[in-house]
Amino acid sequence: MKNFTASYKGSSIITNKNNENEGKNISTSERIEIAREAINFLTAYPRIRAILVSPHDKIPFEHAWQSSCNYPASSEKIHNYLLKGGNWGLMHPAGMSIGIDEDNEKIRNAALSLGDTARFNTGTPGHFCDLFLIKDEPVGNIPLIDGAYIRGKGGQNLGPGSIHPNGNIYGSIYLHLVPPVVVTKSELLEVFKPYIKGKEKLSKNDSKPEYKQPLNPYSLTMKDLINVSGFKQSGSKYQGPHPIHGSATGNNFVVDFELNEWYCFRHGTGGGPLQWIAVSTGVFGCEESVPGKIKGDLFWQVIAAAHNRYALSYEKLAKALGTA
Ligand SMILES: [Zn+2]
Repeated sequence: MKNFTASYKGSSIITNKNNENEGKNISTSERIEIAREAINFLTAYPRIRAILVSPHDKIPFEHAWQSSCNYPASSEKIHNYLLKGGNWGLMHPAGMSIGIDEDNEKIRNAALSLGDTARFNTGTPGHFCDLFLIKDEPVGNIPLIDGAYIRGKGGQNLGPGSIHPNGNIYGSIYLHLVPPVVVTKSELLEVFKPYIKGKEKLSKNDSKPEYKQPLNPYSLTMKDLINVSGFKQSGSKYQGPHPIHGSATGNNFVVDFELNEWYCFRHGTGGGPLQWIAVSTGVFGCEESVPGKIKGDLFWQVIAAAHNRYALSYEKLAKALGTA
């Protein structure tokens, strides 16, 4: 019998007090059900992406998980991989969402002081993961005391339904899928200040922006964003392989520098510089770049991604690329 319930509309709490080994005995279908509940919940928060994680492990399965190999939570790829026994991770491409691995009471109370947020048990008894959305600027990865961690930009937390190396199931005894609390970066840092143990890293590798020359956010053009060497030119148009997902024919992508637009023949999608930044930084997949997509939260997520990639002022970017 199913021994948990979930709702992301209200303040439902899942408890399975009788199950002291954190879900070791639950069936595969129950494990998938836990993952499904979380996936349904996450579709409302596209800034949190899903990645494949090796079975019974915490290590991302695909090498490019921080760039091109992260997906909408509802992606079939994630679902099929879970069915095959794989784990999955909640990934924060732009640092506009975070997951806190909280491994002690003090840190849990600090998180609770920010409000009633989404939370689930991890694989170690008594440990939880809290999800928050960030309102203003990207949060990186910040080590906290006692092995706790704020996972932000380029970081990931194992998702509900994943199997810990010790056999325990994430989200099996506690799966509290209420809307993540929205906080500013300074509110977050203030609350966790006493527990911060090390320096914030804005990506796992702390990599430098790829562009040597700073771009001007007020004249961001496709020309600045795409390298067309090797492309076929016809007037202001250049055609070649899609720079992110590649091409079987070598010709599935066209960019027009005069119109300042791009188009993908594989997916029938396209857009301007803002959409390209979103696709090239992994905020969303090429197949998702449709008109009207970038608004509200997603707009700020793209701005954050552009800020991180091109080292441009957050505020100037938002002004230059228009507000949602
Ligand atoms: Zn495409």
